[in-house]
Amino acid sequence: MAKDGQGQIAAVQVALRIRTLSEKDRAQPRFANLANGDCLRALEKSVHVVPLNKLFTFDHVFGPESRQSEIFAAVGQKLIHKFVEGYNVTILAYGQTSSGKTYTMGTAQHSGRFDLEQEGIVPRAMSLLFDLLQQNDTRPTSPSSVNSNDPPGKPGGRLRPVSRLSSPASVSAPARYRFSVKVSFVEIYNEDLIDLLNSAPPSERPPVNIREDTKGHIYWTGVKEVTVSNTEDVLYHLQQGTLNRATGSTDMNEQSSRSHAIFSVTLRQERWVSHGGGGQISRAASPVPSKLHGKQRPMSAMNGRAEDGEWIVTNSKFNFVDLAGSERLKRTAAEGDRRKEGININGGLLALGNVISALGDPSKRSTHVPYRDSKLTRLLQDSLGGSATTLMIACASPAESNLAETLNTLQYANRAR
Ligand code: ADP
Ligand code: MG
Repeated sequence: MAKDGQGQIAAVQVALRIRTLSEKDRAQPRFANLANGDCLRALEKSVHVVPLNKLFTFDHVFGPESRQSEIFAAVGQKLIHKFVEGYNVTILAYGQTSSGKTYTMGTAQHSGRFDLEQEGIVPRAMSLLFDLLQQNDTRPTSPSSVNSNDPPGKPGGRLRPVSRLSSPASVSAPARYRFSVKVSFVEIYNEDLIDLLNSAPPSERPPVNIREDTKGHIYWTGVKEVTVSNTEDVLYHLQQGTLNRATGSTDMNEQSSRSHAIFSVTLRQERWVSHGGGGQISRAASPVPSKLHGKQRPMSAMNGRAEDGEWIVTNSKFNFVDLAGSERLKRTAAEGDRRKEGININGGLLALGNVISALGDPSKRSTHVPYRDSKLTRLLQDSLGGSATTLMIACASPAESNLAETLNTLQYANRAR
């Protein structure tokens, strides 16, 4: 459970991000007497819906002028620290189509030269992640183990160190810490799970299933997990997956995304903890092949010495979830298949809202949290609630023409608190 500023238990932290008005928004007819057609006023931790004179309060409110770096610094950074500490973390981007979910999350990377200032949460988070992992790596520093390209201080998380991935320790400098990072990218479309990193034709792909082990950890079978060693690797796979994402054309937005996209990063860390004696640190012959948290049996020692310590393994998972557009069906003039998609998407968002609201209700939290009501909540089960940290970023347009949907978003996000 995340604690809020007052030390109270909050299952989910909620941030509101108000996007900038687009040219299209400015061209819409206006009904209320508003400057620029802008109907939201961001106050410190609340938002004033001007035409309705209503106020909604959140953990953070980011106005249209807020920059990507500011949002990461305020809400993203600490979650990466949590992740490295071994906690599961989820960030959910909620809002109607075109409200800025993908922009904020940074899950649609552009190829080639890209303005770093425009980068969203994922690339910034990965940059910080590899930086922290590198710092955790307590190898005695030899000149060859230091990347001479790394600047000593990094402005705004721009440093992209090349990490060491569970590489065998050198004999002269035994490893005390090892890590590996894997990514997967799954889409939920009409309650079907689609592996966005699998480029094989659909008929040749294994079925994707959600499994739970006896400890309550959720595993996805049939999903490709790719080992990555630096931010560029991550962004490459993110881009490949984004290209595979199912998009439908509606009269609201041709690029409208009718599905939930879940980009997951799993981190496995191993730390050698020596058992007193101040002795030499032993070196394991191979990484511990266990998926479980907690202590492992001591490994065999080098040089015939009895080992005096053990490898502690920590696994954690970070889900970046770009949710389907929250707009109600009638707005999109949907028909046929599109209608079915709309209903299922709303089902996923409805289930998510119910789970989050149950997590925030002390009487329900330990008894019934309805994770099984949708694939989305089932998939995220071990990363929502419990010891996991969850952040919802509600994205909203300030345009008067979107007021009904914006109100819907504010109410949904408000319920999550
Ligand atoms: P969604 O994923 O919610 O459908 P997008 O993130 O794709 O919405 O945003 C729609 C368009 O608006 C994109 O072209 C995006 O770059 C732009 N956009 C969204 N939010 C902002 C913002 N805060 N500042 C500048 N451009 C934005
Ligand atoms: Mg999007």
